[in-house]
Amino acid sequence: MIFMFNLERLTKHTAVDTTIQMTTRSCVVGAISLGKYSIAVDSGNPLEIGQGFRKQLEDYFKLPIKYLFLTHAHSDHRGGMIAFRDSSTLLISQKCKENMPKSTSFSKWTVETFDDKLVLEEDIMVEFHQVAGHSLGSSVAYVPEERVLFAGDLFFEETINLGLPFLGIYQFSPRKTGNPEECLGAFKKFKSMKLDFIVPGHGEVIKNPQEYLDGQIEFFNSLKSFIISEIKDGKSMEDIELPRIGQIERAYQIIEAKSQKYKALKFMDTMLNWIKKSFYEFYKED
Ligand SMILES: [Zn+2]
Repeated sequence: MIFMFNLERLTKHTAVDTTIQMTTRSCVVGAISLGKYSIAVDSGNPLEIGQGFRKQLEDYFKLPIKYLFLTHAHSDHRGGMIAFRDSSTLLISQKCKENMPKSTSFSKWTVETFDDKLVLEEDIMVEFHQVAGHSLGSSVAYVPEERVLFAGDLFFEETINLGLPFLGIYQFSPRKTGNPEECLGAFKKFKSMKLDFIVPGHGEVIKNPQEYLDGQIEFFNSLKSFIISEIKDGKSMEDIELPRIGQIERAYQIIEAKSQKYKALKFMDTMLNWIKKSFYEFYKED
């Protein structure tokens, strides 16, 4: 199979490929140049994609790829990681490392981990923040001087996943759904950043970050109030139906324009169940 790559310039020191995710089970992959070396943001999935992306990135910046940064432990972001092993240090949050599947071997890797924050600086500065929310140890890369945030799966822009947050697997073992309160904390942290672009884990680059973040915060807060009030009313998780607000209403509109509505609605059902479960499990009183 021939994969179509298209690593494109976002700012002077950043690039992004949103093409490869359209035809594969891969994520958006990104890159940052620090002048002396580059950083790959997620490997894509599977191995052949990682290999293709590595080659693209070497050709693009013509720099050694010193780090492979993984935003989180899900397979669509790390399935191609071995392609970088002989050249790059694996940069991940400590919690992300702990959340990798048990079968992951780090023995042939140089691994660098961080707890809450790590900063790398050469020609420009890059900050890595562990924010969790989507998954245990989920992290982002922020390039302040160029106002770019690589946010991983904290965001799904609406060309993929109907724009709905994926909160299905926070922790592999024991299996848990996402943490809405950590998501809100992350969104508020992003609001304090100077941003022109948010690169999501899936979908197209978000070019109206502040407005987009406001929408996400409002959506999560509305769901939170709704679920808390349903729980107070004594409803069980099965009895709760999520309201058509924010991204959910938008997802219905996207489905309306699709030809295969039934399939899209089934998919949406699964997404909504995970969202509901995440909020319910988190806000229910023990
Ligand atoms: Zn993903």
